[in-house]
Amino acid sequence: MFDSHLHVDCLPMEEMEMMVLCGVNNVVSCMFYPHVHVDIDSLLLEKHTERLLKFETWRAAQAGLNCFHAVGINPVAVPSDYEVYLEKLPDFLKEKEVVAMGEIGFEPASQTLPDVSEQEKLVLSLLDIAKASNKPVIFHTPHAPELKKKYTEKCLQLCKDKGIPPQKIVIDHASGDTIATILEAGAWAAISIQPWRRLDAADAVDLIEEYADGKVMVDSDYSCLRSDALAVPKVYQEMKRRKMSPDLIGKILSDNPARCFGLPR
Ligand SMILES: [Zn+2]
Repeated sequence: MFDSHLHVDCLPMEEMEMMVLCGVNNVVSCMFYPHVHVDIDSLLLEKHTERLLKFETWRAAQAGLNCFHAVGINPVAVPSDYEVYLEKLPDFLKEKEVVAMGEIGFEPASQTLPDVSEQEKLVLSLLDIAKASNKPVIFHTPHAPELKKKYTEKCLQLCKDKGIPPQKIVIDHASGDTIATILEAGAWAAISIQPWRRLDAADAVDLIEEYADGKVMVDSDYSCLRSDALAVPKVYQEMKRRKMSPDLIGKILSDNPARCFGLPR
């Protein structure tokens, strides 16, 4: 099984081992830097990226987990001199561990770049780099339903304007408010199951039931906030409990993320 969005540097070894025991073998770790009460500059983010790609990939492998990465600039953790990091990004995207750009997008609650028009400038620059790399882009979406809808539509529109094909777009933290819009646009909808999101495994499986034909995947978004490393295995268990077909279970939990990120199942 795949966990298509988490932050590996927040995962203790014991949790990684538990994930492997429960059948998770592949994860995609997205970019994030702890930003509260900390000044971030590009050099720091560059060193952090190197740590993620080299050290954290190795650490996950010790637990039996294949860790792939998405690199970019998370809207909550934007370096003050982010243009410098943007210059390094094309090279990071070529690294063998990197399967996507992400997570990028809009977060009005960002403490490092609160001005959303400035965030839009950053997203547009990132999309140019993503397009040149031909790798998929993972978008963060804000938590509040109205903002989630607004910025889901905005990200889809910006990608369309930039000529990024829908099969290269993952809209993350999808919910009942946004999943139909994402799937109608032809993009991938990723459902994050986290205690504080008020979206549990049963809610995720309700959405999977309704959109079984869609390009849906699930993830834990394991981060430094309250998280559940076993989010994806819990979805598996719930799909089994509802007697969903092995084909559908395999499609949602393995095939879809593998196809999206160009990885073997
Ligand atoms: Zn995340």
